[in-house]
Amino acid sequence: MRYISTRGGISPISFKDAVMMGLASDGGLLLPQSYPAVTKEQLESWRKFSYADLAFEVISRYVDDIPAADLKSLINRSYATFTHPEVTPVVRHDGVYILELFHGVTLAFKDVALQFLGNLFEYILAERDQTLNIIGATSGDTGSAAIHGVRGKKGISIFILHPHGKTSAVQALQMTSVTDANVHNIAIRGTFDDCQDMVKELFGDLAFKEKYSLGAVNSINWARVLAQVVYYFYAWLRVTDESAAPVHFSVPTGNFGDIFAGYVAKRMGLPIDKLLLATNENNILTRFINAADYSLGKVVATASPSMDIQIASNFERYLFHLFDENSVRLKESFTELKEQGRISFTPDEMSQVRKDFCSSSVNQAETLQEIRDFYTDTGYLLDPHTAVGVKAALDMLPPDSSRVCLATAHPAKFSETVEQSLGFQAPVPESVKELYGKPTRCELMDANLDKVRNFFVAQLG
Ligand SMILES: *Cc1c(COP(=O)(O)O)cnc(C)c1O
Repeated sequence: MRYISTRGGISPISFKDAVMMGLASDGGLLLPQSYPAVTKEQLESWRKFSYADLAFEVISRYVDDIPAADLKSLINRSYATFTHPEVTPVVRHDGVYILELFHGVTLAFKDVALQFLGNLFEYILAERDQTLNIIGATSGDTGSAAIHGVRGKKGISIFILHPHGKTSAVQALQMTSVTDANVHNIAIRGTFDDCQDMVKELFGDLAFKEKYSLGAVNSINWARVLAQVVYYFYAWLRVTDESAAPVHFSVPTGNFGDIFAGYVAKRMGLPIDKLLLATNENNILTRFINAADYSLGKVVATASPSMDIQIASNFERYLFHLFDENSVRLKESFTELKEQGRISFTPDEMSQVRKDFCSSSVNQAETLQEIRDFYTDTGYLLDPHTAVGVKAALDMLPPDSSRVCLATAHPAKFSETVEQSLGFQAPVPESVKELYGKPTRCELMDANLDKVRNFFVAQLG
């Protein structure tokens, strides 16, 4: 399998090169040249597979430059860190299925991809005798999952900037309680945007980037999308064990990474009926699907902060397919977005979109209400992101179908919001309680680029 860029500016590269490149060097996103088809018979033969064995079946179709035994070992090690034997179990409550993606070490679905990516990086770097220094900004979830993905790994250092006091308490502790020598937490007296701007500046300095082998772990890495394709297969197999009804997935969406993985599964032949794209008040993608209105608004802070996004970075991958792999049309649409703040679509394109996707936007009051209602009806606690997806599924998808809602975080990770909704504190899992007693390491700094750069240079010597 070779990988190409959505912008059409690179010649095809191998899987390992795609992992190390991250963002394509022409500014586009990397995609496989084709999606390997999975037949009905193959799918049936996977029914009894463990999560890790299924992951190998799916992932190996995209990887031809890592020996099978090595890939298997990378996958097995990545999913052995999950606390549930099924890795991503499916439970049924109140007429919907909940796909629990939060049994990884940081209690959010990003662990599924970042445990694998961390192991992949280490493997490829060792083989190439290279080192990598990851720098990233986080509002909470990505940073903690990335830190846990690479802690203690050879050849890798990680520097994560987060806005001091502006993440949830659990998110901050999940980062600062990692005291491995290769992990550097920087709490910035400022906003997430301040953090992100400084990271962009550092990457913009090409000589600096080259000299220190800078890399990123944001959601544009193809390997992250690929790892997430697996749980669509896993959940589909579980719900069709029980029922032959059509299967829909409801996905709380921010950067379009998670739902794009569902689209890839569908392209491979997994019989998914509709992908329901659930948004909070930041609803540009809902306006796009329902009203062909892809026009930029302002980012609004909500109770589901990991979905507070206007420009979804992975959306470019989908647009490339929607435009029949036409990079020229894709680039024109980004010019339109830059100049007019919007992208226009033809009626044909919109009918194509609606074959695969439907969408609903759920506001803050509805989200808090859904956490309360669902708990009252079932005794099951939803985190605010998951609640957005569940509410959308209950409103939009036929009750006689199999409605699979992706549970993207554990409620204890956003206990402040859950408490606000229920009026009492959610039970705290042992792994979270333990965080409070651990030693922490974190550098507190002003939002000053020189200070951040000096710290980075000093640490790397
Ligand atoms: C990152 C995240 C999302 C959004 O996922 P995307 O892949 O960015 O669409 C949803 N919920 C939680 C809890 C997250 O951490």
